[in-house]
Amino acid sequence: MAHFRLKALEEVLNRKPEEFTREKNLVSDFYGKLAFDKPKMKKYLSKAAFNAVMEAIEKGTTIDRKMADQVAQGMKSWALENGATHYTHWFQPLTDTTAEKHDAFIVHGDEGRVIEAFSGKLLAQQEPDASSFPSGGIRQTFEARGYTAWDPSSPAFISETTLTIPTIFISYTGDALDYKTPLLRALHQVDKAATAVCQYFDKNVTSVKANLGWEQEYFLIDEALFKARPDLVLTGRTLTGHASSKDQQLDDHYFSSIPTRANRFMQDVENEAYKLGIPVKTRHNEVAPNQFELAPIFEEANLANDHNQLIMDIMQKIARRHKFRILYHEKPFAGINGSGKHNNWSLSTNTGVNLYSPGKNPKSNLLFLTFVVNTLKAVYDNQDLLRASILTASNQHRLGANEAPPAILSVFLGSEVSKMLDLMEESVVDRKMTPEEKTALKLNIGRIPEIILDNTDRNRTSPFAFTGNRFEFRAVGSSANNASALIVLNSVVAHQLNKFKEKVDAIIAKDVKKDEAIFQVLKELIINSKPIRFNGDGYSEEWVKEAKKRGLTNIRNVPESLSAYLRPENKRLFEGLGIFNEPELHGRVEVEYEKFIMKVQIEARVLGDLAINHIVPTAVQYQTMLLENVLRQKELFSEEEFEQLAGARKDLIKEVGGHISAIKSKRHDMIEARKKANVIEDTVKKAEAYDKKVKPFLDDIRYHIDKLELIVDNELWPLPKYRELLFVR
Ligand code: ADP
Ligand code: MG
Repeated sequence: MAHFRLKALEEVLNRKPEEFTREKNLVSDFYGKLAFDKPKMKKYLSKAAFNAVMEAIEKGTTIDRKMADQVAQGMKSWALENGATHYTHWFQPLTDTTAEKHDAFIVHGDEGRVIEAFSGKLLAQQEPDASSFPSGGIRQTFEARGYTAWDPSSPAFISETTLTIPTIFISYTGDALDYKTPLLRALHQVDKAATAVCQYFDKNVTSVKANLGWEQEYFLIDEALFKARPDLVLTGRTLTGHASSKDQQLDDHYFSSIPTRANRFMQDVENEAYKLGIPVKTRHNEVAPNQFELAPIFEEANLANDHNQLIMDIMQKIARRHKFRILYHEKPFAGINGSGKHNNWSLSTNTGVNLYSPGKNPKSNLLFLTFVVNTLKAVYDNQDLLRASILTASNQHRLGANEAPPAILSVFLGSEVSKMLDLMEESVVDRKMTPEEKTALKLNIGRIPEIILDNTDRNRTSPFAFTGNRFEFRAVGSSANNASALIVLNSVVAHQLNKFKEKVDAIIAKDVKKDEAIFQVLKELIINSKPIRFNGDGYSEEWVKEAKKRGLTNIRNVPESLSAYLRPENKRLFEGLGIFNEPELHGRVEVEYEKFIMKVQIEARVLGDLAINHIVPTAVQYQTMLLENVLRQKELFSEEEFEQLAGARKDLIKEVGGHISAIKSKRHDMIEARKKANVIEDTVKKAEAYDKKVKPFLDDIRYHIDKLELIVDNELWPLPKYRELLFVR
């Protein structure tokens, strides 16, 4: 057994940084060469077709069949010129990966020959067999059909030899089966709601878009070592492994010089990303050994998320080219930092205003405060929904652990903005304000420094932080599709902005001036949302106590957290905005419960196998070595000498034996617990059983394995150790 590990280590010793084919020109010259972006559309489409696509992107209008035919022709010409032979609809089912089915362009031509063809119909819609994608019961088998439909707001691109078209994925009945459909709905709703509020301030605002800048964290592990760890291969995380004597204590990995092999991998990724028009910008070492981060320049949220999904796929492929495997799991190694995916999120108007940037005068600052305060209230009212959108079987190991956001939602605003909110709370009076009072307040509002970006006291411990010109939702998991978080975030903000507008309008209707009506409602929101504001250390024990006093929820288990989606008020919220109808919401939550159950089940099986087929035999082998040694000594030495020389060895034999017995009996109990859980019909109850009755065995069994790792002869140990996985590069 052990020779698998030792051979892997030997293989790693001979690694060299890999070469790859790099584009020769400046990035600005070849950027987007494999994407059917605006310049390409301009070149390959008729004016009418180009305008139709632009209008679809900007206003969400539909493109009719005739125009779609024209777009398809242009796209096909471009794709064929660039070596494409196939096309595919590319979509994001609820599996946490993307899906694609390639079809060749060829059709029968004359005289037994073939020709390349592509039409508006094929561009607009495809019918993949949907029966193997999770739907949570939405899709009955008698209507297994699912449809993908073109999303013109995200440019098609060429991947290898395939023209790849971003699409939504819906059932025969039109229900969403993916992440993109509800994301587009949520973005539309936040656009509508924010635009209406902006109209109080500027009639020229006719649309608002949400922006996303994701920061993708990941680990790179050498492929030989990875393959020698069945747990990494099958679950994406280590289910056993004693801590390395040194890991991140010295803080010597964060921002340190990037190891050459990893650096070469990153360059390769960037080279591919630029060809596809993905604006990746930042690369650096993260806190844990062999942990890294990649971040782009932010883009419109739907496009940015497609780009994140795409780059996750590309990184996986390119990692192999460099003899690495990439880990997106939120907590691949116990005891050191896990990986997240900070979602930097903001709203900006068609007039070019970032609604989370303080402005130059009282009016634009009031606009800024309006959006900050409404966001605050949205997060406060919907803590549980936001948590449900990010808490998964894998992310639950990270939240609340080493340097990761806690499972308590709170908002960090920084001192400048906090002061401003306090001031508003004090200065807005309950009776009609005098002109002097109003002027004084406006003057104060005008005093927010225009650039607070650099002097917001950076707080890395907040799950939802204001960072000068945007909010950063930091609790999102590294393996997640950001859409899950963005659907909820944009929905709850839209919902809150709608309520705000209703209230302000109602006050204006009572003959109160607009600015005063806004002041009044903002004051009320500031007071009501106060418990969610927290500028202190979110990682501390005191905060857990304080948050409890404030009535904030702290839920760390997935089944309980997921139930938030189905509360009556939340169903109403989603249905009211048209994000999810009832079957869609139920289906989606069902899928999440199932995913949770299956992930814990797989981990339990893998650990059971490792324990019995890898660890116990190794421990027995070592124990036998010890026994033989002791027996020989007994033959050779006097009773007294023997006790002196081999007494401790006898204890060691007992210790090894104790761990072996514990592993065996706990594994037995774990299987019994699984059997009991498996016969539970109700998905929620089954998930709870997996969470409460099965999952704890993972830690229990691991404890004994990790102890054995410290005792057993290093030469015999079958699984690459933490120090090897984390420090070999
Ligand atoms: P950090 O200091 O948190 O690592 P960076 O400056 O590297 O942050 O930026 C993180 C991400 O935030 C980048 O993708 C960046 O483009 C994005 N970002 C910057 N400004 C905004 C904004 N107004 N809205 C959304 N994302 C933004
Ligand atoms: Mg950040």
